[in-house]
Amino acid sequence: MDQNISKLAGLIKNSPRTVVVTGAGISTEAGIPDFRGQNGIYRKLGEDRVMRIINIDFFRRQPEEFYKFYRQYFHFPPVEPSKAHVVLADMEKNGHIYGVVTQNIDNLHQKAGSKKVIPIHGNAERYVCPARHCQAEYETSYVDNYPEVVPRCSQCNTILKPDVVLFGEQIYSYIDAREMILSARLVIVIGSSLTVYPLAGFVREFSTFTQDLVIINKGPTYMDHAAQIKFDTNHTGDLLEKVNRLL
Ligand code: NAD
Repeated sequence: MDQNISKLAGLIKNSPRTVVVTGAGISTEAGIPDFRGQNGIYRKLGEDRVMRIINIDFFRRQPEEFYKFYRQYFHFPPVEPSKAHVVLADMEKNGHIYGVVTQNIDNLHQKAGSKKVIPIHGNAERYVCPARHCQAEYETSYVDNYPEVVPRCSQCNTILKPDVVLFGEQIYSYIDAREMILSARLVIVIGSSLTVYPLAGFVREFSTFTQDLVIINKGPTYMDHAAQIKFDTNHTGDLLEKVNRLL
């Protein structure tokens, strides 16, 4: 393990551009469960059910049912960034990493101080009015305090949508996220099983070049075979802290 930590520090030092790709696993140490892990909602509720309800068509057709489910299962507890988020922000500040592409919707990279973050699945702390002429934005507190289950825009009365990418919708910043990953010399994947496309596809595309891929994930991922180093750990914060000390 220690040998691999020095090896990763060496790869980062020699890399002119390092990009970090994160998934739900980086936020479990902050207290937000992932979907596929032991406490994840896919285990509890079934992946099919989640995909059917957290879906743009379902949202449009049955907003009341959508919001009942969303309010119950997608309301993240108010948590602070984990050590891993903080160390990554520090690495960016010191020029060791270029930026982060994340599947997470918890806003924790931004809260930790990372500046160059592409949150391709949006931000669960924001709601938007989907009416083209309006597009007003709201914070979670507006929805939390709304007197009905289905929140509406205070300006035009349209039903608000969480500012997250639902199943059946395009990810945000597709081109920028792909470009950031493909332009890297080193990609470090943290806390993602690399199951969800298109992000998993960008990493797959990247790994066909001659650059370096490192994976830090508890359990297997779909790209383990292509990784120069694979860390199988839950203690991502401690690991990154050790790497950071060597930079
Ligand atoms: P995933 O659930 O498929 O994979 C998470 C991986 O992280 C798992 O392999 C798990 O074993 C690993 N893991 C858990 N804790 C870890 C730790 N401390 N250190 C290292 N690895 C750890 O997650 P995914 O690939 O990100 O995809 C799930 C989808 O769910 C994404 O689209 C994401 O938007 C969404 N999601 C987001 C959040 C969030 O914003 N925090 C939480 C749950 C799900």
